Amino acid sequence: MITSDCHMHTTFSTDGISDMESMILSAVKKGLKIICFTEHNDHGAGFEGPGNYVVDTKKYHESCIELSEKYSDKIKVLFGVEIGLMEKEKEYFDEYVNSYPFDFVIGSSHTAGLLDPYYPEYYTHFSTTEEAYRYYFESELIRAGKFTCYDSYGHLDYALRYGPGGNSGFTYEKYADLLDPLLKEIISHGKVIEVNSSGIRKGMNGPNPAASIIKRYKELGGLPLTVGSDAHEIKDVAADFNTVRDILIDAGYTSYSVFEKRVRREISL
Ligand SMILES: [Zn+2]
Ligand SMILES: [Zn+2]
Repeated sequence: MITSDCHMHTTFSTDGISDMESMILSAVKKGLKIICFTEHNDHGAGFEGPGNYVVDTKKYHESCIELSEKYSDKIKVLFGVEIGLMEKEKEYFDEYVNSYPFDFVIGSSHTAGLLDPYYPEYYTHFSTTEEAYRYYFESELIRAGKFTCYDSYGHLDYALRYGPGGNSGFTYEKYADLLDPLLKEIISHGKVIEVNSSGIRKGMNGPNPAASIIKRYKELGGLPLTVGSDAHEIKDVAADFNTVRDILIDAGYTSYSVFEKRVRREISL
């Protein structure tokens, strides 16, 4: 059983719905032993909404400390962040991740170059969906070579959630010329990838990344993945973790990774 959820958002994130205390109580109710909050910091991406997806880290940290103490006899609450990787923000994030005592840093591509694959407009820049996805993976490959300030690469095939047809036409082989170097680059820097269960509840036929990517990552020598629900509200805490567990076991894993004070350890599946 997976008893740690290491990708969670609260109202400290622009798109968070439930507050931090409710998320903790939900995690306790669901029998989790460890959770790590990973609020959004997409500095420089120009995303709209309250706070522009840049968490007020000081307030967030204070609240996290206070509540982790309050519930310390029931659950371990860790302090993390999900940063939006963009080449132009490298200096900012290199400094930012060392400005607070984070337990865990997820590095995610919410953009490809300067484009945002979340919006249908992104796909109009390309003549086929395949080209649009290729551009996304190319952008991740560049970032994997440049960034070292993160611990786990978040939802590696994020763009597949939003393209026309979603991930229905996705096969590893079609993108292997980009995905193989991408996974090798991440592994060569001693980093891991995340398995993010949100794809399942968003109607895709699996988590992000797809099971075929997780399998190949394992074949290439990838260390155990971190696991997160990407919950933004209480109902999604630890969502579909049994399915995630089956996929990890099928790929050959017997454990998953959790980071505390930026140090990785493994917990049995
Ligand atoms: Zn979010
Ligand atoms: Zn994300």
